[in-house]
Amino acid sequence: MARRVVIAEDEAIIRLDLKEILQDEGYDVVGETGRGDEVVDLVRRHRPDLAILDVKMPGADGLAAARAIAGLEQRVAVLILTAFSQRNLIEEAREAGVAAYLVKPFQRAELVPAIDQAVSRCEQEWAIEAEAAQVQASNGGNAQATAEDKLETRRLVDGAKDLLMERYGLAESDAFNFIQKTAMGSRSRMSDVARQVLDGTTTP
Ligand SMILES: [Mg+2]
Repeated sequence: MARRVVIAEDEAIIRLDLKEILQDEGYDVVGETGRGDEVVDLVRRHRPDLAILDVKMPGADGLAAARAIAGLEQRVAVLILTAFSQRNLIEEAREAGVAAYLVKPFQRAELVPAIDQAVSRCEQEWAIEAEAAQVQASNGGNAQATAEDKLETRRLVDGAKDLLMERYGLAESDAFNFIQKTAMGSRSRMSDVARQVLDGTTTP
């Protein structure tokens, strides 16, 4: 099934261009707006797989919209479009739940890899959250312990992913899949597998 996308970009020409590329690439553009304050509603209404948000827009900026989208009870990957001069926003964007970004003006060939990265990073985050929820069920519902556990898992998994990418040349999503599948296969946790990857006892 085609991935469903909502676009928020106030420059009409860029929005049109983006929509055409997405449709050519087989995506289903289910909603579009030039206003940051309208996009959250579009996401709520259309339940897309992905939201592509410009940073500077009337109504609300893309990061504020990303924060609002992250607060919805929906799983939506968020990709932001930044101008080169806004590169300092990238850290803030990550904290707002943005999974990937693309610097404008972008090349057509850059769009699909950026979308794949956004979707893959979201799936990773959801897998970590799902595991943390299982842990919470087994630790008597201690939310504080779960939050710390999630942070630690994310830190270990990121470190192990970096090692797998550097030493074995794996793509980021393949590195994560290796950790996840190994954990499932050995009925252990992703954080345990990540530790084994980091100390060299588990290799692809
Ligand atoms: Mg703009």
